[in-house]
Amino acid sequence: MSEATQAKPELKALKSTLNLPVGGKDTPSDPVPKALKSTLNLPQTTFPMKANLPQNEPARLEAWQQQDLYAQIRTARAGQPKYILHDGPPYANGAIHLGHALNKCIKDFVVKTKTMAGFDAPYVPGWDCHGLPIEIKVDEQLGRKKLEMDPIAVRRACREYAQKYVDLQRSQFERIGVFGRWNDPYLTMSFGYEASIVETFYDFFEKKFVYKGLKPVYWCIHDRTALAEAEVEYEQHTSPSVYVRYKLTSDPAAIDRALAGKDVYTIIWTTTPWTLPASQAVAFNPELDYVAFEDETTAETYIVAKELWGRVVAACPALRVEATNVNYYLAKFPGSKLEGTTFQHPFLDRSILGVTADYVTAEQGTGAVHTSPAHGVDDFYTGQRYKLPEIQYVDNAGKQRHTDLHGGQPGEPYEGLTVFKSNAPIIELLRERGALLSDTSFEHSYPHCWRCHNPVIVRATEQWFIGMETPMITDEGTVTTFRQRALDEIKKVVWDPAWGEERISNMIATRPDWCISRQRIWGVPIAVFLCDKCGEPLNEPAVNKSIVDLFKKEGADAWYARDVASLLPAGTACAGCGHKEFRKEMDILDVWFESGSSWHAVLDLEPELHSPADLYTEGGDQHRGWFHSSLLTSVAVRNHAPYKMVATSGWTLDEQGRAFSKSLGNGVDPVDIAKRLGGEIIRLWVASVDFREDVAASENLMQRVSDNYRKLRNTLRFLLGNIHDFNPEEHSIAFSAMQPLDQYILARTAELDAKIRAAYDSFEFHRAYHALNEYVNTDLSALYLDVLKDRLYTFAPNHPGRRSAQTALWRIAETLTRLIAPILSFTADEVWALLPKSATRESSVHLALFPAMSEIIPGTTRQLEEDWDQLLTLRDEVLKVLEEARTAKTISNKPSETQIVLGWLNSVAERPNPVFEQYKSILPELFGVAQVEISNAIVTEGTVEKGAFYVQAKPAAGSKCERCWRFTEDVSQEANYPTVCLRCADALEAIHFPPYDAPSSNSTEPQA
Ligand SMILES: [Zn+2]
Ligand SMILES: [Zn+2]
Ligand SMILES: [Zn+2]
Repeated sequence: MSEATQAKPELKALKSTLNLPVGGKDTPSDPVPKALKSTLNLPQTTFPMKANLPQNEPARLEAWQQQDLYAQIRTARAGQPKYILHDGPPYANGAIHLGHALNKCIKDFVVKTKTMAGFDAPYVPGWDCHGLPIEIKVDEQLGRKKLEMDPIAVRRACREYAQKYVDLQRSQFERIGVFGRWNDPYLTMSFGYEASIVETFYDFFEKKFVYKGLKPVYWCIHDRTALAEAEVEYEQHTSPSVYVRYKLTSDPAAIDRALAGKDVYTIIWTTTPWTLPASQAVAFNPELDYVAFEDETTAETYIVAKELWGRVVAACPALRVEATNVNYYLAKFPGSKLEGTTFQHPFLDRSILGVTADYVTAEQGTGAVHTSPAHGVDDFYTGQRYKLPEIQYVDNAGKQRHTDLHGGQPGEPYEGLTVFKSNAPIIELLRERGALLSDTSFEHSYPHCWRCHNPVIVRATEQWFIGMETPMITDEGTVTTFRQRALDEIKKVVWDPAWGEERISNMIATRPDWCISRQRIWGVPIAVFLCDKCGEPLNEPAVNKSIVDLFKKEGADAWYARDVASLLPAGTACAGCGHKEFRKEMDILDVWFESGSSWHAVLDLEPELHSPADLYTEGGDQHRGWFHSSLLTSVAVRNHAPYKMVATSGWTLDEQGRAFSKSLGNGVDPVDIAKRLGGEIIRLWVASVDFREDVAASENLMQRVSDNYRKLRNTLRFLLGNIHDFNPEEHSIAFSAMQPLDQYILARTAELDAKIRAAYDSFEFHRAYHALNEYVNTDLSALYLDVLKDRLYTFAPNHPGRRSAQTALWRIAETLTRLIAPILSFTADEVWALLPKSATRESSVHLALFPAMSEIIPGTTRQLEEDWDQLLTLRDEVLKVLEEARTAKTISNKPSETQIVLGWLNSVAERPNPVFEQYKSILPELFGVAQVEISNAIVTEGTVEKGAFYVQAKPAAGSKCERCWRFTEDVSQEANYPTVCLRCADALEAIHFPPYDAPSSNSTEPQA
């Protein structure tokens, strides 16, 4: 098929979108003879109006892959200054969601804008592959089978699962046009990365940041693992609410003489009755006032905080107290008097110690706090102060295991139940023993596991920790702490938005020691040998290094596959006790430690990258996640932050500001949008929002972006269509010789270039998007392209006026294509292929640089722009007058049949306006009218005053040219072309159009 026939249907559709200067498509009897019409230079392009993105984008992706465009870009920028955006690894679980798409598009915009600004900006994407969510999914798939599988087999299943989602997400990220080293990403489960993780751990270990200790940690009994602070979310939860009395067993008179000989109790309030079997103490606030009051029926005496007395009595119907005012208590004393008292456990054979703690308040409860060091953070530290037993009574699965331990009698009714199920039998037991004063329920905000959303518990367990107060040496040689070094490094980083600095600083300042151990299989083991006799960890750098080398070869599986004898040199002895038998630690590292080591595993070790990175950019939740763990590992090991700048994005929400959820059905799936509207639409949507804030997305908004895309595409199509016969080397016109309007639009284009590049430099892609839209709508559509049609279509093809316009259109197309390439990567490349070629031109726009200002305009255009400020003000007035005159029917509907008369008011000294006079010849084009007269007449009737000048619209003089349809006074002056104006006659002559006779009344066809 020839090009001409291919282009034909295109041409028709395109033409229908234009306001043709020759009467338009709806004229009943087309007054332009067919043969004359064929002499018009109408747009021609193979760039289709309908983008067909869902079909065409995959084809372009394949072409890019075949050319290995990413490798070509690397080669093109080799040796240039580096810009390293380090990818935060998404978790290899499930398909991508809109948040992923937002994140990857922002990164792609950064990398592409840096590349086009001349930087060598490699992008190595990564995935977080280890960890609980994958292990849980694999558990579900394996079911009971898992029990018979060895850890290696389970790990293999997890690896396959992760790889499957790495592959899926990779294809989805590529589909939306994200460039990167997709054929060789970094995976935290690759052998090399696993080796780097233990290497980083050993760095901490050898520098004495790591200790093993008992600590209260959040524990998910469903997932059977410790959870980091970052892995806990607060949700509403209904708990029992019980008031329980503890009988005083020490001398009541020691508290207050008034209590001598009395039967005394204190009352505790708890929402976790399951912790009562682990109860070791009752805590009182030493500064608070407490009262002792008497039950009127039993004469039993109760001690509670004075401020809470009334509320306790009201909450406990079992108590008989008529009044709770100041006159009715037996004694009042400070909480400090209760330190050292002893109580009887309500159902176990155990003595409970009275202790003091300042976290006890009079806000709720009784002022007497039941304390179980194994199950509360505050309790744990109170227990340490009073040397209370911290015995763990609850196993990994959250089951009560008390029998034979510390006062538990065999066959306790709660034995073997999970903690939440054990509440009921424990409450029953309290009732039987007469210790229960009240039993209701209570809804409150309670910590839940972020993975499985089950309520979590606090449990004292043996864990590995990184100590935040580990001593470190500053650059100045002074001693400080790890925490302080991290805080100091935060100040050296650029945080965008700026509040990120305070946020992460607060988190680092207040965080507890970093619990890095997890009791799972799918991860990198804390590869430490423990003395079988004394439990002391072996810390031999040579041994550690041999494990790193082994992991490089065999992966972390080696820890599971090999026994101690094959891992440790023979004769290795414990530094503590000299014993020679060791066991392997089987806990794995926190996944945040893994991804947080990527500055080493990826940036340090990949030759094309380096640490610190120029930019980390992720969601705002990563101040407590990846930014946080990366900072800590890098500061500990390298003594500096791993990044120079951190930018954070907000959440993706629906138009009402709600989170996406299945039940609301408000989700926007990027894969689906790419399939229906195109990957380009997601990219343009990302560019349209300020990612620093929460961003709205919906089907509706995607459609709106799609409409904007269509407008932009049509503009690009107009540009391409009108330079189809333009060869820059042959036809371009020097700036100084260009038409003023063409010069002006190039000055505007240069401004756009500066504006967009400044926006790109500060990663304000939404500013670039808005600047682009404004330029396309205001400068191009409403002005330049509108008025240009007469010159483009009716002038002889080679007329300097037309070539001037084409020179501008070509430069605009070049500029726009490069400027939009980082965002509209598919479309820009499509346009690029259709722009005029030259020997030095890059094969893809993605290999090109942003246009330099000097490529668009030669220098300052200040005077030009000042003139145009006046001319455009005048144009606005003229357009208003034309509209008014049309409404009043003093002129026809066609500007081409209209004359504009400009005049000046009497009072204006300088007339005519020198600017208007200077540009007089282009005014008809600028107004789109047939003629413009500048009159020296004073204001007359029928004119409209516009400040210093007046504008009058009236029917044009002369007659209509059959070709351009303008009214002129020179129609039929050229004998060879008797029905057209002189300008058109020149054009016809220039293309050697055959002369013809004046038409007879029944024929408009010129002679052939
Ligand atoms: Zn869980
Ligand atoms: Zn030992
Ligand atoms: Zn004409």
